[in-house]
Amino acid sequence: MRRVAGEEGLAEGAALLRAGGIVAFPTETVYGLGADARSDSAVQRIFAAKGRPSDNPLIVHVADREGARRLARRWPDLAERLAARFWPGPLTLVVPARKEVASATRAGLDTVGLRCPAHPLALRLLQAAALPVAAPSANRSGRPSPTTAEAVLDDLKAADGLVLDGGPSGIGVESTVVDVSSGAPVLLRPGGLGREEVEAVAGPLLVLGDDGKAPRAPGMKYRHYAPALPVRLLRLEPEAAIAVIRRQFDPADTGILAATEVREALSAYRGVDLGPDADSAAAALFEGLRRLERDPDLARIVAVWCDTRGRGLAVLNRLEKAAGGGRHV
Ligand code: AMP
Ligand code: MG
Repeated sequence: MRRVAGEEGLAEGAALLRAGGIVAFPTETVYGLGADARSDSAVQRIFAAKGRPSDNPLIVHVADREGARRLARRWPDLAERLAARFWPGPLTLVVPARKEVASATRAGLDTVGLRCPAHPLALRLLQAAALPVAAPSANRSGRPSPTTAEAVLDDLKAADGLVLDGGPSGIGVESTVVDVSSGAPVLLRPGGLGREEVEAVAGPLLVLGDDGKAPRAPGMKYRHYAPALPVRLLRLEPEAAIAVIRRQFDPADTGILAATEVREALSAYRGVDLGPDADSAAAALFEGLRRLERDPDLARIVAVWCDTRGRGLAVLNRLEKAAGGGRHV
């Protein structure tokens, strides 16, 4: 992939999307790898570049609500209310799809996940290209999502396309995915928008459960967000986590990924400080995993997280999956 400074690359990026090529671009959540969502052959290039299983559908990015309504076979009242409140922003709405959305984009489903990103460069790219852009995170499938152009290149250098460099994406975890396509709204994936905020508009959300049924968000069954080192997740309060780590893990080959309080108490270990709260943790999470995996002396990463409020739920979810667990493996 060829990297171009965001502003300068906009016109070229839009032209490449119109020609069926792939373009990585920053959003407020993570970097996306985009292609024309109406074209099976364009979208196939995303799946090929990422090594993504073809049964994992892509989120389609639109410039505004009008663009979303054009792709929805039905646009439920709740979709309208959520989009009016939270777009542009880190919320993806799954609604019944029109046939214009390529089958590969939907992974053959009759629904589509739609979102309007709150990033000036992403919005200008969508406007300039004037087409709906299917864009999963711009990482090799299964790896931590990229929050910088550098991380995109680390994973996808060999692919043929363009990377618009717009600096680090701010939120750091992907969008919250809510299915409003039938009956009661379902939280398919926690993300940048807190569950509480969605529920303030939508009422209580059903949560994709561990009831053994086929997952409704197809991508959820795959291992995700995993760096090159094994990850252990300690879902513990600071004091307990500090004690367990001191007792069980060798400072010589264990990297710590934890909020400031825990990180500072473990100064004998190398590691990454996730900052004071869930928002700082979300912003530092994926880059932290990528940084620790590059440390040649480390044999494992021990992550500490238990906060489920706001973006904390997304941080926990990503760490569960990075550790190879979670409810949908
Ligand atoms: P990614 O693009 O890697 O951030 O992943 C997108 C995720 O959005 C998928 O793994 C699904 O969980 C979810 N998603 C996208 N489209 C749909 C859809 N039509 N139905 C259900 N889930 C979807
Ligand atoms: Mg992804």
